[in-house]
Amino acid sequence: MLARLDLPAIKQPKFSLSPDFIATSVAAINFSLLKSHGIKACFIDLDGTVVSRATHEVQPAIVTALKQAGLPIFIATNRPRSRGLKNLKQDLSAAGVIHPTKIFAKPAKRYYTSALAAHNFKAHEVIMIGDRYIQDIFGANRAGLYSLVVHKNGASHGQIDRLLSKVEAKLTQLFTGRYRQTD
Ligand SMILES: [Mg+2]
Repeated sequence: MLARLDLPAIKQPKFSLSPDFIATSVAAINFSLLKSHGIKACFIDLDGTVVSRATHEVQPAIVTALKQAGLPIFIATNRPRSRGLKNLKQDLSAAGVIHPTKIFAKPAKRYYTSALAAHNFKAHEVIMIGDRYIQDIFGANRAGLYSLVVHKNGASHGQIDRLLSKVEAKLTQLFTGRYRQTD
């Protein structure tokens, strides 16, 4: 896992695309280190992060990592409610699922702030883990959550997704050269 060089002791809201941490996969996240930064809960994206897009199958290594994280896990997704999602929540032993409220989906600031309020967390006590720079990283940074980008899990679907993923992989590569190794 990598961390930014100027990682703040207490995260402040910022208009920024830079993640605080980078991991190749959810299974490679050092949750103990996150706890030492005062992080008390994880919001975690599904598609491209925990599962390959639009599927419900989680790699065993990811299930294990989340179960051993020692932090409450909340699935933070723009997906609508479904039976499959409910089962996934169980499989991951997640404490809850954060759905969009009205028009406020990721990356809206309101999506993040209402989720924090609903679960009684301060922004700097929570980390958003995801594969998308706009929805997950920018959205979380702007709301004052810590942010962690993972390398995309699974293949892209369609031209736009493929293009976005390509740009995002390049961005991660760029950041990787400037971040420090943590473990
Ligand atoms: Mg995603």
